[in-house]
Amino acid sequence: MRHRLLLLVIVTFVVISATQLAATLAGSQTADRSPVVARVTLGGPEDAGRFVRLGLDLLEMRQGNDLFILTSPAQVEELRADGWAIRIDEPQTALFKQQVSINTYRGGYRTVAEMRDYVNSKAAQYPDLAEVFTYGQSYEKVHSGGAAGWDLFGITLTNRQTPGPKPTFFLMAAIHARELTTSELALRFVDYLLSNYGTDGDVTWLLDEHKVVIVPAANPDGRVIAESGFYQRKNTNTTYGGGCANPPTVSNQYGVDLNRNADFKWGTIDTPTEPRCGQTYPGPTAASEPETTAIQNLVRSLFADQRGPADTDPAPLTATGVFLTLHSYSNLVLWPWGWTSQASPNNTSFTYMGTKFASYNGFTPEQSVGLYPTSGTTDDWAYGELGLAAMTFEVGPESGTCAGFFPPFSCLDGNSGGSFWPRNLPAFIYAARIARAPYQLVLGPSPESVTAAVSGENTFDLRAQLSEQYNGGQAISAAEYYVDTPPWRGGTPVAMSALDGSFNGVTETAAASVGPLAGRHLIYVRGRDALGNWGPVRAVFVNSVTCGVTLPALSAGFDVSGGAGVINLNSPDTCSWSLASNDSWIVVTSAAAGSGNAAVNFEVRENFAQQPRTGSVTVGGQVFTVNQAGTVQGGCAISFTPANQVVSPSGANGAINITAAADCLWTVTSRASWITITSSPSGFGSATVSFQAAPNPLSTTRKGVLMVAGQRFVVKQKGS
Ligand SMILES: [Zn+2]
Repeated sequence: MRHRLLLLVIVTFVVISATQLAATLAGSQTADRSPVVARVTLGGPEDAGRFVRLGLDLLEMRQGNDLFILTSPAQVEELRADGWAIRIDEPQTALFKQQVSINTYRGGYRTVAEMRDYVNSKAAQYPDLAEVFTYGQSYEKVHSGGAAGWDLFGITLTNRQTPGPKPTFFLMAAIHARELTTSELALRFVDYLLSNYGTDGDVTWLLDEHKVVIVPAANPDGRVIAESGFYQRKNTNTTYGGGCANPPTVSNQYGVDLNRNADFKWGTIDTPTEPRCGQTYPGPTAASEPETTAIQNLVRSLFADQRGPADTDPAPLTATGVFLTLHSYSNLVLWPWGWTSQASPNNTSFTYMGTKFASYNGFTPEQSVGLYPTSGTTDDWAYGELGLAAMTFEVGPESGTCAGFFPPFSCLDGNSGGSFWPRNLPAFIYAARIARAPYQLVLGPSPESVTAAVSGENTFDLRAQLSEQYNGGQAISAAEYYVDTPPWRGGTPVAMSALDGSFNGVTETAAASVGPLAGRHLIYVRGRDALGNWGPVRAVFVNSVTCGVTLPALSAGFDVSGGAGVINLNSPDTCSWSLASNDSWIVVTSAAAGSGNAAVNFEVRENFAQQPRTGSVTVGGQVFTVNQAGTVQGGCAISFTPANQVVSPSGANGAINITAAADCLWTVTSRASWITITSSPSGFGSATVSFQAAPNPLSTTRKGVLMVAGQRFVVKQKGS
């Protein structure tokens, strides 16, 4: 909040509008200026272009032949007088009246200054993965000679330790300043990638093998106005003629629509003859605005030109890079072209791509012109100039709590019609996964989930759910996995099999037994369709389990009459073991095999011989010794030192030195839960028995007893 006030003070010197806006925040929405949403019904396709050229505040939504504008009652009357079939849409109007009065920032939206601080803090926290860059200056910074405005900024995410060149996923937000939620989504994606690197398989390979470049606020000057509660859409350039409303109204404001100003087909739909105070004024010339030239130069620096000059030249299937610009609202996924109703030469891939994104976020996919015709947009430019797979998401519903430009912040994570973040995250991930060759990879099936459960020592049960439902609908014909080295780095494929017996469906579950692989590895999975198209990979980490049984106690002692015994064994859950008695007088009464931790029961027969005896049970390769006294055991002389022991209140180890003839059996048992015998608890002849006393949690002294060959050994421990 402090940053915002400081900024407004600085801006005062140069851009009078900013301070006036802040000062008149509460009083500006007088009755005749209060916004209304009007709905115009178009008579035919040619009407759309004619209406768009009026430069009105078009909402990025459409219902059938109806377009929507933010306007005033007076302007509705004027438009009606001009012959447009227009009326005020009361439910939409109510939404906007409500939202203008919200102090949106209280709910959690970050200011431009906070966004900049955030990316700087992330770059400091993750120096090997993140780097903040500046790529130009905003209009106010240029116009003020640096005294106001902003350095345009973004953040690049990639593992700098892995060599390039790397495919790039470019994500930008809020080129329309008032579309608040888009910046938050971009920043959350930064956080998601950085905080899950090294643990999530997909995030890890995406940052190892890709660059993710994120610009969270492409129009910071305008955003500062929006932070004060005004529906500022454009930049804040005041040099192309005066007389625009100040503070801005919903239909009248200074500035250039940066999403009509890009240098591709500029001026063909949205023309410079549009009213300059209107919402889609494209500027006097192509790329007239510093924000536009800066973002174009940035994108050109990241991607080569991969498409021929003619409108009908397709980008090759091998073209690399995905460009995604976030807008709001009306839950749409849009792809080029916007300037013509002709399909682009890459329309098949675009349609699959858009439909696939929509399958994740639930939006409606369509060619951009289907919303209404536009020219000079950043996505048409990115595709038209460079051949990039360029997409627009219009985030947020058309009605309800989460509609509009300033929805409650809680709509990012929930609310009816909300959950913008969880519904768009998988779409962002898919965009990054196909960035290597989007037009090609989108033709193939995608593993939608990959799991690798430990199935044994260093082995894994790999499962992948593959779908081509939104990628052409061909049957899946094959699946394969790679260990650590992905296909594009020359990794070795290993075929997977169809869980249902054959690959023939649009969705399939592929399976493989992977291993043995000791240690930690990244397993990549991909699928191929019946036309031979391989889809993008997904990856999962595996951590091997080394099997092996350990026995907390390695022996037990019995007197001449024998009896029941227990062998406690520890084993990883996924590891199997078997056991067998090595002597006829030791009878195992539990199952002879199992997996995981277990307690094995056995019985020792009576020893009718004079001599003591030793036998064993082999458990998972470990030998458990069973000692039993003979009928002459009573003649044994067994002694030990010390007679007792005092141990520290904080816990301690102790030892008992036993002296006995070589054929004499002794046993040691603990009668105190806080004393554990840590060496063999029975044996023949002289030996040292170790024990461990736990820390005393009591304030009082306690005593515990070990029975050594039938005699008491007292352990005394003072209170703590
Ligand atoms: Zn927009």
